[in-house]
Amino acid sequence: MSDNLLWGFEMEENRISYHKSVQMLYKKIKKDNMTNIWDRYQAQGFGDPDKRCPFCMGGVRCDLCSNGPCRADVEKDKRGVCGITGDGMAMRMMLLRNVMGASTYHYHTVQTVETLHATAQGKTPFEIKEPEKLKVFANILGIDNSDSINEVAIRLCNFVEKDFNRKYYEPSQIVEVLATNERKNIWKKLDIFPGGIYSEMMLSTSSCLTNVDGFYKSLALKAMRLGISMAYQSQIVNEYCQDILFGIPRPHQMRVDLGVLDPDYVNVLPNGHEPFLGFAMVQLARKPEWQKKAKAVGAKGLRIIANIETGQEMIQRWEMDDVFYGFTGNWIMQEAILASGCVDLFVADMNCSMPIDPIYAEKYKFKLIPVSELVAFEGIEERINYTPNKAEEQAIQLLQMAIDNYRIRRDTIEPVTKLPINDALVGFSTESILEALGGKLDPLLDAIKAGTIFGVAGMVSCTTLRDTGQDVHTVHIAKELIKKDILVLSMGCGNGAVQVAGLCKPNAKEFAGPGLKTICEQLNIPPVLSYGTCTDTGRLADLLAGISKALGDVPIPDLPVAAVAPEYMEQKATIDAVFALGLGLYTYVNPVPTVTGAPNLVKLLAQDCKQVTGGILNVEPDSIKAVKGIINHIENKRKKLGISKERAFATS
Ligand code: SF4
Ligand code: SF4
Repeated sequence: MSDNLLWGFEMEENRISYHKSVQMLYKKIKKDNMTNIWDRYQAQGFGDPDKRCPFCMGGVRCDLCSNGPCRADVEKDKRGVCGITGDGMAMRMMLLRNVMGASTYHYHTVQTVETLHATAQGKTPFEIKEPEKLKVFANILGIDNSDSINEVAIRLCNFVEKDFNRKYYEPSQIVEVLATNERKNIWKKLDIFPGGIYSEMMLSTSSCLTNVDGFYKSLALKAMRLGISMAYQSQIVNEYCQDILFGIPRPHQMRVDLGVLDPDYVNVLPNGHEPFLGFAMVQLARKPEWQKKAKAVGAKGLRIIANIETGQEMIQRWEMDDVFYGFTGNWIMQEAILASGCVDLFVADMNCSMPIDPIYAEKYKFKLIPVSELVAFEGIEERINYTPNKAEEQAIQLLQMAIDNYRIRRDTIEPVTKLPINDALVGFSTESILEALGGKLDPLLDAIKAGTIFGVAGMVSCTTLRDTGQDVHTVHIAKELIKKDILVLSMGCGNGAVQVAGLCKPNAKEFAGPGLKTICEQLNIPPVLSYGTCTDTGRLADLLAGISKALGDVPIPDLPVAAVAPEYMEQKATIDAVFALGLGLYTYVNPVPTVTGAPNLVKLLAQDCKQVTGGILNVEPDSIKAVKGIINHIENKRKKLGISKERAFATS
């Protein structure tokens, strides 16, 4: 550990972030004497910034009832006052995290379904952009799709809402229709085939009460069950309905990194996860009258800048221009973005806005407006809760606030300019991958069979400061994977990491191994395909189901693929990982989750799970060793499929 990392010193550049832009703004934040995530991270450490309470790190502490807080030691059979083991404590807390993750994913889905419903009734500024996808999805779900598009949309909304509300003992029709037979059989055998998601959340949460379920294996199965209902009912329904409303992601260029911020424009940053008001604002801001209003206060124009996961949802679907200008990056760079002095309005929807933001709003003179009833900030009274029927008037209010703020900011704040800018090819989805392949999966499957592409990694990741700077580990893992001819599909905040780092543009093929490089050249695609947000994990499950079918119903655990989360952070990520295990995937997770004090639970997830669902957890902080583990797994799967090919790196 370098001395610079100790208390009171500035962090080393690569401990701040992989990105130069963020490193530059960290210096400005320090100069301005502002509290910031990097210093707060260090301050939480016990001397070493990464060192924390060993019981908490091991996941073997509990404060659920008044007999606690309790600490456990599995080796000494030291238990909580109620008698729960350390394994039980760690898994119970993991399940509670998963409930939060499922609940938040599903909140977003409910907003999307309501927006689609209101749009079909002509009550929003949006239109159904993909009627064909609507019909196909309705057809898959067994919904009559013979009437007008609006009728079909309403029927679809009613169908999914009914499914969400099923009792936990009534099998979910959405899961029944979308999952593969092989997975469904396993889930039924294990009694983890879910009912409706609301009821599933109740089942999980109630199990966590003191003196209800203290058995780590039972809690782990409940977590998988919840994960399955979340992936199909929340994630797939959400992304498909957002596609229907706003367009299927298709490849296009996008400006990325903090250089997209120009202080001479009125800059509006929709932030969080829900793109509704962001899209409504882009539609308005593209009208000359709004540009005129911005120019009337002395700005060069009005821009909507895509930010974090709301931004990711938007850039996947809509092309950039001089109004919808580009994408900043993921959530850890939030204070850097705000300290740039370029922001007029920060529009906070249901995820990813930090409790510290009001202090930044005061210092750097921007308006901070929550637009979801979920979000609240200390000291911020003004809010606009998103309502689909009022989307246009809410967007008008927001744009006017930004324009009114421009002079206040420009007259008082010295902005940072000339920040780095990069570009990325964004907008890959199952449909657009198929289009790039000429309409069928065969060229991809042939390349996998021939070994030109060694395997596929679905990288669903966040960003964290644990052990390394923002995005450092994610970028190392992604580079190492493509070097070994593993095609990466990136999602979540980790997708922002690789976009800004330059891995999502065709010339990143230079970092790829010879096989993957050839494919990139043939198809003019990057070695890392920008596949969306963490909500797109469900879409990935659907793609895997398609690959399994195309290969003759190969079980998902036998595919040469892996799920990769190099920098998992919050509760949504934990349920993604648990779902990946239920889906039967080799799942690489970093940083080490808080389960290490629970050896029986670790054995269950990292070894025994393989015999149960086919999934296996791998935890490894070292990027080279982590990728080696992924390669070994893929090689074993290739052998099983009879497509093994000698490769120098497989054993190196
Ligand atoms: S639930 Fe059990 S382990 Fe948790 S605080 Fe109460 S007695 Fe302690
Ligand atoms: S779960 Fe992770 S990837 Fe998704 S928004 Fe949160 S931090 Fe980003």
